[in-house]
Amino acid sequence: MCLIMDVSEILNHLGEDRHEYYNSVSPPIMQSSNFSFPSVEVLRAALKQEYEVPFYTRGYNPTVGILRKKVAALEGAEDALVFASGSAAIAAGVMSVVEKGDHVISVAKPYSWTDKLLNKFLLRYGVETTMIDGTDIENFENAIKENTKLIVLESPNSLTFEMQDLAAVAALAKSKGIITICDNSYCTPLFQKPISMGIDLVAHSASKYLGGHSDLVAGVLCGTKARIDKILDAEFMTLGGIIGVQDAWLMIRGLRTLRIRVERSAATAKKVVRFLEGHPKIEKVHYPFLESNPQYELAKRQMENCGGMFSIVLKTEEETGVERFCDSLNRFLLACSWGGHESLLFPMCALDDSKNYQHNGVPRNLVRLYVGLEEPQELIADLEHALKQI
Ligand SMILES: *Cc1c(COP(=O)(O)O)cnc(C)c1O
Repeated sequence: MCLIMDVSEILNHLGEDRHEYYNSVSPPIMQSSNFSFPSVEVLRAALKQEYEVPFYTRGYNPTVGILRKKVAALEGAEDALVFASGSAAIAAGVMSVVEKGDHVISVAKPYSWTDKLLNKFLLRYGVETTMIDGTDIENFENAIKENTKLIVLESPNSLTFEMQDLAAVAALAKSKGIITICDNSYCTPLFQKPISMGIDLVAHSASKYLGGHSDLVAGVLCGTKARIDKILDAEFMTLGGIIGVQDAWLMIRGLRTLRIRVERSAATAKKVVRFLEGHPKIEKVHYPFLESNPQYELAKRQMENCGGMFSIVLKTEEETGVERFCDSLNRFLLACSWGGHESLLFPMCALDDSKNYQHNGVPRNLVRLYVGLEEPQELIADLEHALKQI
């Protein structure tokens, strides 16, 4: 079921029962691990619904409850859980589906810790993963085995931005009884709604656009009420990777401006990409909404807009040239992560020494850029200056 609601109503009002807390406009940070009861009878009743009423904060906290409602509504999902990190959310979603002896299909080049979850951690529990190029639906068809239970998607990925046809993969998976999970951090629910395309579980690193201020680490997982209930009662409660109450409040505050932040980041990134495309010092720009992108049609079909992150391959293999470029940028901070107010860059050559380097064919002279809320001209001037240093 897809519950589409007005975005401003979700961000400003949904889940906020203001009459319960003095009609405060901003919700309280309910900084309490536990909640007390007037009698055994009331306590017993609360225990029966410990995931819906204040009892113990791992299961339910009123501040986190507001956040769950907002996030679920944004994704058009029946329910959502909020975790201590995006990685905790993805791990809980994946682990809720697989058992010993099962097989997983994952798109190549997923987020690095998703890769490690699938190809290292889960191997210890007898779950095997096949990594495929997700740009072609045939690769999914060919990888399906008798014991395939889950398909892990990330559209686009956050290095070279390849996409998957989410509706086609979801339809294929459904026909075989396979569950699908999609990391939707890049697009946010404003620009892409995987659940409306038939995807079962949608995960986010809320440390990125949803939080939006580089001041918290959190994750979310959305799905049907039945599926989320099952995860809540198993992976969520046992692994216990819950968000702290103060971070939940910060995330609610971050969400207030989600739409203007993401739209602004996207619009500025378009201008920056237009400047970089075809620049003589740049070999290639990886960005879903480039007309020269072979997946441009797909991007336009399934994404309402494009996120503000992309990557460039510099026209030099000489490492010192790449480093001079990166070190010369002033407006882009040299840091991991993305999705905040500030523009960032991350060069692949920082990952390993050249002799150990092997990152799924992603070249060492690739630099990822994230565009924040600065003025486009400032960012372009900064890049123009840095490109001259190559
Ligand atoms: C950052 C990130 C994650 C992991 O999220 P954390 O909040 O850092 O645990 C997962 N997927 C994508 C696409 C990311 O960018």
